[in-house]
Amino acid sequence: MARLRPDQPPIYSELLRQIKGGEVKDLTLIPQRREVLVRYADGRKATVSILANDQQVLRTAESAGVPLTVKDIRGEQALAGLAGNLGLVLVIVIGLSFLLRRSAQVANRAMGFSRSQPRVKSEDDVVVRFEDVAGITEAKDELQEVVTFLKEPESFIRLGAKIPRGVLLIGPPGTGKTLLAKAIAGEAGVPFFSMAASEFVELFVGVGASRVRDLFRQAKEKSPCIVFIDEIDAVGRQRGAGIGGGNDEREQTLNQLLTEMDGFADNSGVILLAATNRADVLDTALMRPGRFDRRIHVDLPDRRGREAILAVHGRTRPLAEDVDLSDWAKRTPGFSGADLANLLNEAAILTARDNALAIGDGQIERALERITMGLTAAPLQDNAKKRLIAYHEIGHALVAALTPGAGKVDKVTLLPRSGGVGGFTRFWPDDEVIDSGLLTRAALKARLVVALGGRAAELVVFGPSEVTQGASGDLQMVSQLAREMVTRFGFSSLGPVALEGGGNEVFLGRDLVHTRPTYAESTGRAIDAQIRNLAKQALSEAIGLLESRRETMDRLVEALIAEETLHTERFLALAGLANEELPMSVQEGALP
Ligand code: ADP
Repeated sequence: MARLRPDQPPIYSELLRQIKGGEVKDLTLIPQRREVLVRYADGRKATVSILANDQQVLRTAESAGVPLTVKDIRGEQALAGLAGNLGLVLVIVIGLSFLLRRSAQVANRAMGFSRSQPRVKSEDDVVVRFEDVAGITEAKDELQEVVTFLKEPESFIRLGAKIPRGVLLIGPPGTGKTLLAKAIAGEAGVPFFSMAASEFVELFVGVGASRVRDLFRQAKEKSPCIVFIDEIDAVGRQRGAGIGGGNDEREQTLNQLLTEMDGFADNSGVILLAATNRADVLDTALMRPGRFDRRIHVDLPDRRGREAILAVHGRTRPLAEDVDLSDWAKRTPGFSGADLANLLNEAAILTARDNALAIGDGQIERALERITMGLTAAPLQDNAKKRLIAYHEIGHALVAALTPGAGKVDKVTLLPRSGGVGGFTRFWPDDEVIDSGLLTRAALKARLVVALGGRAAELVVFGPSEVTQGASGDLQMVSQLAREMVTRFGFSSLGPVALEGGGNEVFLGRDLVHTRPTYAESTGRAIDAQIRNLAKQALSEAIGLLESRRETMDRLVEALIAEETLHTERFLALAGLANEELPMSVQEGALP
């Protein structure tokens, strides 16, 4: 008898034979699985597949007297099916919810823009005080009142006085407008909210308006407080101006801002400060009483202002004993507060690099040059080029020294700077001009002559065919200045008429449509002729001054090439002008 190996289930016919042969102890039939579980008398077990409605095994087992159980596994099967289905449903639900979450996040990002909490910068404990803001005394005095109001509103309310709701700070960038707004909050000890106006405006119409509402809601909750909006011109531009219609979003934002400002109860304690450097483009509705009814100009600091600002920033930095801040204030005309802060910071960096303990004049000097002239570049190697630049610079300097009303030479240098500057001549700023802001016709004419001194030197030394394009910057400056003299200052024979505007930047959308030249074509030609005349006269004057001093020029150029930099005294000594009393002013009538 061919016995199967125990681990191999018997085939159907063999099972029948085994049953008949009495080898099988019992059988369990599972109809749903179409199989029968066999237990042998010797303890082995096996599973045999059978037909769907198998009667043969039944009958054989019956006749052989082998016990046979029929097992119904429908319940088990149903349970297993249920578990399988449940698992599937679970997987689908998890997958779906994941997808939903993702799409909700995307939607949130697109639609949840209106809340501006993260953009509004809120400071509860402002550390800036008025003493940190220097050089803009007038603005500070004006704003002192706002501080008093925030601190003790009763004294104003008792008298029936209404406090301004909005203060507009107008001035060039870096003059300390933000700093001033913060100082008010700091002095009064109230929270400070700030936001850049450009952040109101989004791609979607209506977002800006909702952000404005949001900002004011937060502010009202924390009243009294200061709300500061930087660069208000981003939303506050004249409505209805613009090519191809206005910008709906911006206009809605502005409308909302106006509405919110009107919606303040009187003396509600929220004071809005806004900064701009383009007050001319602001919508007139913003300036109405009850809105930004105070306008405070924050201008570039004057000399004393600059000294005070330097002192403020010098407080936290170790300055060498001999550093005279008033001297540095004198040498930085046109610098804003931010520029001055930057100057001292650069100087501090250079000092650290030098491993020195205190910031000295040398470091400030280098920082100033770095800021105004750019980084130093490698010294020139080409001798011919060096000589040419030297003559050019000496031309400027010598003409300046010989022209009454021109600036005093501070230094001439051949050390190149990055950006293609081969050397430069620096002048001492004129104290009188800095203080008064007024320039005489003689002084302007002197500037033209000095500016053309470089080209004049090239002409005198190298001849008309060897002049270089190095003077292009000078020429540009001359054209611009001469044009202003003719068209704005009335310094020409065209008479005392202003032929062109104040040189403001164009406000696209308004000026493009409305601005036309205000003079006739023939006047335009006359203007050009006058400008050319001024420039030509200046050039021939410069040539006249240099032609007779060829030797002095050669001496100065040799010294400059050898020493690379000539300071005031050395320059004047070499030029033979040290002890000469220079005429400091000229008669107006003597000018053409
Ligand atoms: P704005 O808002 O006018 O553009 P900021 O107030 O932001 O200028 O000024 C920038 C930085 O310049 C200030 O943080 C401060 O360090 C410096 N600064 C500007 N103006 C002054 C000033 N009048 N006094 C002291 N520091 C100033």
